[in-house]
Amino acid sequence: MERDADAIVLRKHCRIARKRLARLLVAGSDWLYMIRPLTRINCSLRNFVQRKMMHVKPIGALEDNYMYLVTDKLTGKAAVVDPVDVDKVMEVVKSEGVELVAALITHHHWDHAGGTKKLAEVMGNQFPIYGFGDGRIEQLNKVSTDQMVFKIGGLTVTCLHTPCHTTGHICYYVCDENEKVVFTGDTLFIAGCGRFFEGSAEDMNRALNVILSSLPDETKVYCGHEYTVANLLFAKSIEENNGDIDQKLKWAKQCSSDNTPTVPSTIGEEKLFNPFMRVSNPSVLGALKIDDPIEAMKKLREMKNSFKAKV
Ligand SMILES: [Zn+2]
Repeated sequence: MERDADAIVLRKHCRIARKRLARLLVAGSDWLYMIRPLTRINCSLRNFVQRKMMHVKPIGALEDNYMYLVTDKLTGKAAVVDPVDVDKVMEVVKSEGVELVAALITHHHWDHAGGTKKLAEVMGNQFPIYGFGDGRIEQLNKVSTDQMVFKIGGLTVTCLHTPCHTTGHICYYVCDENEKVVFTGDTLFIAGCGRFFEGSAEDMNRALNVILSSLPDETKVYCGHEYTVANLLFAKSIEENNGDIDQKLKWAKQCSSDNTPTVPSTIGEEKLFNPFMRVSNPSVLGALKIDDPIEAMKKLREMKNSFKAKV
């Protein structure tokens, strides 16, 4: 619909420009008056060609959780990721003026999936709630399986099964024609990863360094918690001379004092400073005095579990 409206505006400006140029050829006139429609054509063309369809809004919840509202701006349809605080989600849905059409649950832990019962009360039992079907997410009615694809308006959502933090963890990869984002829950954090509650170092290596690392480098990463500063302090304790860690840490500390979110990063960035995505890198292997990436993943997780950041 909006695209049609743009085409109409574009045609209108072309028509005005043609008329004014014809008048100029006949009589000569004010140049600025003649040229203005041409600049408007340029502007309309830019909007027409480069329209951004996807919008992601992080919504803080509990102590340091993130919920997200992802909207297709062309249709106004939106999905919410991990809606633990339903009241807050509904406030944002109202203020953004969008139509909430689905919930995407990354995993069953209460700080991510704890709002589904209330959401079904508010939106009705038929409201689509996506997630892994192991019976641990209340009101789940859309079972997400690996590589399953569905639409939110014009956005394409692909489910990526990434077991380790929990056996049923799903990351949601969302694309439109211009942009790619991935909601990584408690699998991939900025500069870190989730604990291996229900999986092994091999599982996390597959999740991070086979599945997520194969997404395009420009894919934006929206994770489940704001842990960035602490994660980067740990990263620095492993790779003291990694300038990308220093740069990101300086920026993240500034975000923290400004109280602004550090999401998103990108998959490409994570490969530069996230030690758990650098387990094949000689710099990380050398620091750990380990040859094998899976052993390095295991060792890093053990070290992180007992790491006390000196902020
Ligand atoms: Zn969790």
